[in-house]
Amino acid sequence: MKQWGFIATWCMAFDACFEASKELAIGTKKASDIVEHAIKKIEDYPFYKSVGCGGLPNTDGVVELDAAFFDGDTWDFGGVAGVKNIANPIGLAKKISTDRFNCFLVGEGATIEAQKQHLPFKNMLTERAQKAWEQKKQDILLKNLSPYDGHDTVGAVTLDQKGSMAAAVSTSGLFMKKSGRVGDSPFSGSGIYVDSEVGGCVATGLGEDIMKGCLSYEVVRLMEEGLSPMEAGEKALNRFEQKMLKKRNHCGAISLAILNNKGEWGIATNVEYSFVVSTQDIPATVFIAHRKEQKTIIEKASEEWLQAWYKKTHRDTITI
Ligand code: ASP
Repeated sequence: MKQWGFIATWCMAFDACFEASKELAIGTKKASDIVEHAIKKIEDYPFYKSVGCGGLPNTDGVVELDAAFFDGDTWDFGGVAGVKNIANPIGLAKKISTDRFNCFLVGEGATIEAQKQHLPFKNMLTERAQKAWEQKKQDILLKNLSPYDGHDTVGAVTLDQKGSMAAAVSTSGLFMKKSGRVGDSPFSGSGIYVDSEVGGCVATGLGEDIMKGCLSYEVVRLMEEGLSPMEAGEKALNRFEQKMLKKRNHCGAISLAILNNKGEWGIATNVEYSFVVSTQDIPATVFIAHRKEQKTIIEKASEEWLQAWYKKTHRDTITI
């Protein structure tokens, strides 16, 4: 069997990773279809507060979603931003990725295109997300809290047995973002980048910072120079952070998920970060990473950690 692999940001991608790994092991489906399906599964799940249905709304109480799809063989790239009530933003991003022109659509134009393509629509604001929004509004007023805590964009990179690679990302962006705000996620080179001749990378974290360093592109560029996914991720993130500290005195939370075309994977992060991986050699597994003295420490998530995560994610109220 030829090498295959799947890596995705955050524990919420575990079920999708498990399913993808079964398909990748069989070897008949393409990386591009597998990664789209994986992201759709997460968009459809109403208890994930940062992606698709159930994603948290902006300051006006409206759920605005961003997504992108990237084919590493053809460089078909499609992005959508600020879309409302399109059930699967990733589906639209993939559809428009094959267009020679108009492969990035925002707001109203994206809605019109989704209607033309007969894609499903639904109300993406769940009662649970609405409650969290109301609570947060109060907290911001009373406690003067930052609207942005934590980061949870789902992004995945896939390699199939034929050597094709594809990547996809989907997000509701920052909670309480301004209407019309778009982060790094749907932008080629920032939140997503893949080249089947080398590998791919997806990012999650503070989009306003990630886009300054075009981090996903930088990681793939370093891999093309011969670095392993782990080395490329660490080098790109460490360098970027140093520059940010020099220029701006701070750097937001950033986490990367990386896979090369040999099925080797890597990550880099400056905060505690969970991610999922499956390759020919590893069954779908949740790992936790954090950084210690510029080095990334990775551990398999314990049963206890997974149970605590599940409890927190699946209860009626959202902890922000
Ligand atoms: N990167 C996303 C954004 O800035 C946020 C996230 O990863 O949660 O929109």
